[in-house]
Amino acid sequence: MRYAVLSDVHANLSALTAVLKDLAKRRIEKVFFLGDAVGYGPDPDECVDRLRSLCTVFVAGNHDRGASGRTGSGSFNANARTAIEWTRKHMRPENGAFLRGCPLLVTRKEEGITLVHGTPFEPEAWHYLLRLTDAELNFGYFDTILCFVGHSHWPAVVEKTPEGTLLLLEERRAVLRSGSRYLVNAGSVGQPRDGDPRAGYVVGDGDQVEVVRVGYDIEVTQRKMRQHSLPEPLIERLAYGM
Ligand code: ZN
Repeated sequence: MRYAVLSDVHANLSALTAVLKDLAKRRIEKVFFLGDAVGYGPDPDECVDRLRSLCTVFVAGNHDRGASGRTGSGSFNANARTAIEWTRKHMRPENGAFLRGCPLLVTRKEEGITLVHGTPFEPEAWHYLLRLTDAELNFGYFDTILCFVGHSHWPAVVEKTPEGTLLLLEERRAVLRSGSRYLVNAGSVGQPRDGDPRAGYVVGDGDQVEVVRVGYDIEVTQRKMRQHSLPEPLIERLAYGM
């Protein structure tokens, strides 16, 4: 079964459209979404609508919970909070209700994968998975072969070998080895932060997983953000992928 994992779209329709076009060429059978459909970007409804109709699994991210009013916006920095409050005012109530109802973690026994926005350890605490020591802890909190996370917007593949060694895979691609388990950060469709401004997502099957990058028209999104007076630093960072 060939699947795709998307994360952190952040209401960037131009990026999501490019990813969906790329996906269509790959004979993907299922699409899983790791959360943060909204926040930062100018097209919350269009992105939620497309993801709802496309994705077999839709877990909630911290921005989805904030923008839908399920949690407060106090934990966000000033620019993120401005975007969350703008989203609250502009998103259709029906999409807000949908986001409020999304779970934080889903386990798919049939594909042997776990899906969560933050981390399998305390998903409600929105921890970032940035170091191998964080990965070590989290391998103890899921029991499938693969666990996909988002939230940091930084794509990465970590393998835990049968001997217990942790390897950060430079290629951001893994041929699945029997006995190994994997933690995969799917990166971000709508606001990458690893210095590569192209949209990122993951394709996988029973044999391998791979982070894919797709160029998109960044200026289209930036123009819409300016029209809505969204914070300038959020607009500029899209061009740098930071
Ligand atoms: Zn995010």
